Amino acid sequence: MTAADDCITRFPTLWSATAREADLSTPLAGDAVCDVAVIGAGYTGLTAAIALARAGRDVRVLDAGYPGWGGSGRNSGAVIRGFKSSRSALVKTFGKARGGAMAAFGDTVTDAVYDHVSEFGIACDLMRTGWILPAHNAAGLRRTEERQRTWSADGIGGLEMLDRAGLARRLGSQHYIGGMIDHAGASLNPLGYARGLARGALSLGAAVHGGTPVTAYREEGAGWRLDTPRGVVRARCVIVATNAYTGTLTPSVARSGVTIHTNIVATDVLSPEVARSILPGEEAVSDSRRVLYYWHKTPEGRVLFGTRGTLGGPLRERDFAHVQRAMLSVYPQLEGVGIGFRWSGRVCMTRDFLPHVDRPAEGLWTAHGYCGRGVAMATAYGRLIGETIAAGGSPADLPVPNDPAPALPRRPLKDIGITAMTQLYRALDLVT
Ligand SMILES: Cc1cc2nc3c(=O)[nH]c(=O)nc-3n(C[C@H](O)[C@H](O)[C@H](O)COP(=O)(O)OP(=O)(O)OC[C@H]3O[C@@H](n4cnc5c(N)ncnc54)[C@H](O)[C@@H]3O)c2cc1C
Repeated sequence: MTAADDCITRFPTLWSATAREADLSTPLAGDAVCDVAVIGAGYTGLTAAIALARAGRDVRVLDAGYPGWGGSGRNSGAVIRGFKSSRSALVKTFGKARGGAMAAFGDTVTDAVYDHVSEFGIACDLMRTGWILPAHNAAGLRRTEERQRTWSADGIGGLEMLDRAGLARRLGSQHYIGGMIDHAGASLNPLGYARGLARGALSLGAAVHGGTPVTAYREEGAGWRLDTPRGVVRARCVIVATNAYTGTLTPSVARSGVTIHTNIVATDVLSPEVARSILPGEEAVSDSRRVLYYWHKTPEGRVLFGTRGTLGGPLRERDFAHVQRAMLSVYPQLEGVGIGFRWSGRVCMTRDFLPHVDRPAEGLWTAHGYCGRGVAMATAYGRLIGETIAAGGSPADLPVPNDPAPALPRRPLKDIGITAMTQLYRALDLVT
């Protein structure tokens, strides 16, 4: 954890005020031995722990903060299926069989969320009302149509194109020219969901330790040794599930992931009249921009709106002003409405925009790079990794990218690259 992560205390999330599940984790106290140690109690780590505990493995999840401290408790809560890369791009890159298998896996990831919520009765305000992808210009609309066409050609149901007028009615905004709705999408309270997953893992016999940073880990004998301030954990296998909050702990992840801040504002509770004018169907939305806008309405009647943040994370309220401007460009009817919450979090991008599972050493698994699409994807990746380890399998068995993510330049070149790409993408969004 770094000083920049302090923004969680400076800018508390709406979710920490509204989550209905409690944090049941306890810090590690003393040395421990287990089959599998998981670093990171987000969706990846917790769902891996659930799968392993279900298979009878002795699992311990260790988090420097608490379950959901990272992206899993700060995101906007949109449950979206599919990889960021389109089905045709996956087939082009990986071939028909493997690319097709990846796309098929991507199509089912929302079910992984719904399965866990239903199995553990998680109180996370899940609203299965769909996800809308509005197009901000003609090129965006062409990309959206292509996505809908290739999915539908593969027999994926639940997708519907919306014309300009139909979309405007659903959004309560004239800002977009057409788009698509995926009825399989949803929204939820992400911190409530993470805490509910932790409760599920505990109920199956896993240990979940908040307040337990892993300061170092290394091979020892036939397994691994993990150092924490209050005890050493020895495990046959380690899963690194730290995604955008990896720091320098795991070099292969740090090298191949770019962390980008994304900022969210949530309005005060809207008057019934204004609330009715926005998303009457309560869908989640993220648009076709490369530097995308995303939003939905919360159960208590706020609009939550997010977009890319500044490089080092927000320091003051004015670092959220561009988010508010973006929101007003879509919803002028929110002019004058107060902002109740502002917060930020990090997403981990990879060079190929795909999340990778890797095994850099025997008994050491990593998963990272959800590229801002991890609510469903990280849930499904964690479950898949947990089941695979329990079955004695290897990354080669997985229908997802199962090799090191392509390396990226080191800092400060990385930071210069992020800034340049953001400017370029913003410029491209104006024209294509
Ligand atoms: C603002 C924001 C909005 C987003 N919106 C969406 C959305 O609407 N839909 C969507 O699908 N995705 C969204 N995402 C992405 C999604 O939140 C992530 O992809 C997902 O939560 C990643 O889960 P994870 O378990 O892999 O990692 P995380 O949830 O980030 O968990 C990593 C954990 O590792 C812990 N950790 C790090 N280092 C150590 C250490 N040394 N020792 C112990 N613990 C450590 C951290 O404390 C953290 O809790 C958003 C992300 C952000 C930040």
